[in-house]
Amino acid sequence: MIKRLIRRVLGLPAEVRVPRGQHELTRDAISPATARVCAALRAAGFSGYVVGGAVRDLLLGITPQDFDVATDARPEQVRPLFRRAIIIGRRFRLVHVMLGAETIEVSTFRAADPETAEKDEHGRVLRDNVFGTQEEDARRRDFSVNALYFDPQTEEVVDFHGGLADLKKRVLRVIGDPETRYREDPIRMLRAVRLAAKLGLTLDPATREPIRALAPLLERVPPARLFDEMLKLLLSGHASACLRQLRDVGLHKGVLPLLDVILEQPLGERFVTLALAQTDERVLAERPVSPAFLFAALLWHEVLAAWKARQARGERAMPALEAAMDDVLETQCAKLAITRKLTATMREVWAMQPRFEQRSGHRAYRLVEAARFRMAYDFLALRAASGEVPAELEAWWRAFQSADPETRKAMLLPETGPRKRRRRRRKKRPAEAASQPA
Ligand code: ATP
Ligand code: MG
Repeated sequence: MIKRLIRRVLGLPAEVRVPRGQHELTRDAISPATARVCAALRAAGFSGYVVGGAVRDLLLGITPQDFDVATDARPEQVRPLFRRAIIIGRRFRLVHVMLGAETIEVSTFRAADPETAEKDEHGRVLRDNVFGTQEEDARRRDFSVNALYFDPQTEEVVDFHGGLADLKKRVLRVIGDPETRYREDPIRMLRAVRLAAKLGLTLDPATREPIRALAPLLERVPPARLFDEMLKLLLSGHASACLRQLRDVGLHKGVLPLLDVILEQPLGERFVTLALAQTDERVLAERPVSPAFLFAALLWHEVLAAWKARQARGERAMPALEAAMDDVLETQCAKLAITRKLTATMREVWAMQPRFEQRSGHRAYRLVEAARFRMAYDFLALRAASGEVPAELEAWWRAFQSADPETRKAMLLPETGPRKRRRRRRKKRPAEAASQPA
């Protein structure tokens, strides 16, 4: 009774369990494997709900990326129920159930009691690893629309925080006191921006307001987590919208060097805008995108500026480019753990750009045959589209790569003019010229 009254005062629906008919979700919207997992949990006497992003997306008419299941069963009680299931995770254990081609993540209801959780001096939660009730599990989640549970058997939605109403109003709202929740985990500020942009939701004023002042807290987040979240943001298919939103809420300046670069650069603005638009287009068309390509694009004008500065100080072109790449990657990787595999590809793509200027003799052939030619060429195309290099250069390489041997031969430019100096040098040191890497 009292509970109901409190809920009404808080503007929450009186009943937590919302029966079918009062919401749009039906059991045939969820994947067969997910339905089987929930049914097996039920049959063993436990609860089994679809939870989180999947419920939210389905209610918005969006196809979910994956299905997560929440239950009151402990991991060691879940695993024996399935033929192929493993317990993963050290900090928080959950079960991966493999059914056919699908992997369903099953997690046990968890409490994140802010009183007992271990925190740093800014309120960031370092450890929260206690099992709890469904209600506690809902409270630890970030946004009301992310705290909805769907029971495939009864087709009820369990809604402790007014998530259904917020979805109807298309509002993204933090559960609890926004400032406290951002202090516990500053990544939630980036998630707010990403989810709002991706789902077309508006940030509730109270959810939006504290972000500007709390932005510096992102500096304390481990670089690997920041990288994961930035990658999600950039590959969400709504990167352009996310970045506009980041600027609007005050999450740019000084927080992440990468954001400064993206949002503040006067030089490469057109280039970055094109790169992001192209990425969004590819993601939405479900074509593959390369994170390395995207990061290389986002940082290209930084590299260019550093390269020019070094050359102006008298350094030779290629060593100066190598050093410029080091400068830029060092700054970026301090805060954002861009993986080594990614930076290696970024370097290759950058280092190949000057080679597109050379359209004579065997150099052109060697470039076309290089392992990363396709990516490097796409990069060149972006540079041409942004007006950085002549469109004619891109057109030449586009034609050259698909031309037959005869045409290719006819296309090659004569080795004249500025090439002379190099030829002279090559004569002096023939061994070095011949062993240049392709
Ligand atoms: P998407 O998968 O579309 O990126 P999502 O909301 O499913 O969005 P996940 O990272 O898959 O995001 O997280 C699953 C669920 O876990 C979320 O819906 C939310 O309930 C909870 N969650 C994730 N990250 C946090 C966080 N930082 N703080 C609190 N709850 C979180
Ligand atoms: Mg998800």
